[in-house]
Amino acid sequence: QKKAVIIGAGVAGIATAIRLAVKGYAVEVYESNSYPGGKLSEFEQDGYRFDAGPSLFTMPQYVDELFKLAGKSPADYFGYQKLDIVCNYFYDDGTRLSAYADTEKFAREIESKTGEPAKNVISHLAKSSDIYSITNHVFLERSLHRLKTYLRWDTLLSIVRFPKIDPFRTMHKANSSGFKDARVVQFFNRYATYNGSDPYQAPATLNVIPHLEHHFGAYFPHDGMYSITKSLVKLAEELGVKFNYNYKADEIVVINNAAKGIRAKGQNILADVVVSNMDIWFTYQRLLGKYPKLHPQKILNQERSSSALIFYWGVKKQFPELDLHNIFFSADYKAEFEHIWKHQDIYRDPTVYLNISSKYKTDDAPAGCENWFVMINVPANNGQDWDKLIADARKNIVYKLSKILGEEISALIVSESILDPRSIESKTSSYKGSIYGTSSNNQFAAFLRHANKSSKVKGLYFCGGSVHPGGGIPLCLLSAKITADLIS
Ligand code: FAD
Repeated sequence: QKKAVIIGAGVAGIATAIRLAVKGYAVEVYESNSYPGGKLSEFEQDGYRFDAGPSLFTMPQYVDELFKLAGKSPADYFGYQKLDIVCNYFYDDGTRLSAYADTEKFAREIESKTGEPAKNVISHLAKSSDIYSITNHVFLERSLHRLKTYLRWDTLLSIVRFPKIDPFRTMHKANSSGFKDARVVQFFNRYATYNGSDPYQAPATLNVIPHLEHHFGAYFPHDGMYSITKSLVKLAEELGVKFNYNYKADEIVVINNAAKGIRAKGQNILADVVVSNMDIWFTYQRLLGKYPKLHPQKILNQERSSSALIFYWGVKKQFPELDLHNIFFSADYKAEFEHIWKHQDIYRDPTVYLNISSKYKTDDAPAGCENWFVMINVPANNGQDWDKLIADARKNIVYKLSKILGEEISALIVSESILDPRSIESKTSSYKGSIYGTSSNNQFAAFLRHANKSSKVKGLYFCGGSVHPGGGIPLCLLSAKITADLIS
């Protein structure tokens, strides 16, 4: 039996482990933390439970697929429900709107709240659907780094239809030519942040993202986001995958240009195949540091995605006007992104994302209370004075939420912890604390992501949010699929 060693138990590492176990490999996962999941983890604090990282669950079919692949029924492991309202939006001018999952209802809501004709929303989503149908099979579901991909009929067809994916103007430009109302432009610009990019720089191709949310829907796992990790680990263990926690890999052992295993805790652990789920920058820097000639500098030097600052607040009150996902927009979106990308700091009026899982999973907070996950987009860690930035941001967020909700929020916060780019970097070894690997601010970003297979070292593979096809749970799960498909 062939043996595979996987470095890291992030969602892509676990999914790759499942796929390789199904292929008949003996699989061992080495994880430096004491728990699985990486960014997709959870914690408890003063009677409140929080999902630490991801909160928006899309494309659940990619999770289900793993159970089916193993001949199991997904529902025996993992349950989720579709959201009728994807997210509630609060604008600085007092406008409030709900993004209904139902397209017609959503378009009518936009029209009634902003005056933007519903037909413009419908046609924008139709374009979004077109971009998806062109890019899906080529950019997302296959290796971009194999000639075979380009010799396929559907790839050639996609290349012919390439201009339709709108790569030559920015997302903001496309959105401001498609919509009259600035609030609607802001609404659709926000989707660039789903992979840590800037709508004023990123190509309009990223307008594919609303299709994923509005066509495929947004979901909530009954037991919270962490149940994705837990249920996949359970499946992997049933398939014989061995997880080793508190077990940091120090080196990938390379002999004669072939990966032979890893070095951890002073010992060599041999394998036929090595898969790194560790951030690609640190994989080269820390695990292949001895081999600078192997480092693909151009790819490693790509701009990193943005990071996040999160306040996990236990709040001793319930707010009926809030839902699971809530956005409080900044009054000046352009200025906000200029601060993140140009000034590398935090705008005084940031867009605030507020997630409250206790709306659906009521035992996540004590009776009468709510668990608030309050997040803003911030630059990756370049050595800024984070303590000062965080203190200022906290004041500004509390002020903004208090103003819009008409309640003094600071008096309601009974428990608090904070995650910032520095702690994201140290907890999950993500270079600069970026949360989606590299940014997509460049129209060639898709081609500049690291491949899932080493072109120089035989038997060495890569999966996860910092390599092809990208960050976010669905793409991480696709990276696991592409990686496992590359391994014979
Ligand atoms: P990671 O989660 O990065 O895990 C890598 C693992 O490797 C870690 O467990 C780490 O400890 C381990 N490791 C690293 N080095 C070593 C070593 N030397 N030896 C052993 N183990 C090692 N995605 C969504 O889909 N929806 C969202 O709403 C969303 N929101 C997010 C919010 C936040 C705050 C964050 C941080 C991320 C968010 N994401 C979201 C992105 C999503 O979490 C990630 O894209 C995804 O979880 C990354 O998974 P991964 O497999 O790449 O590995």
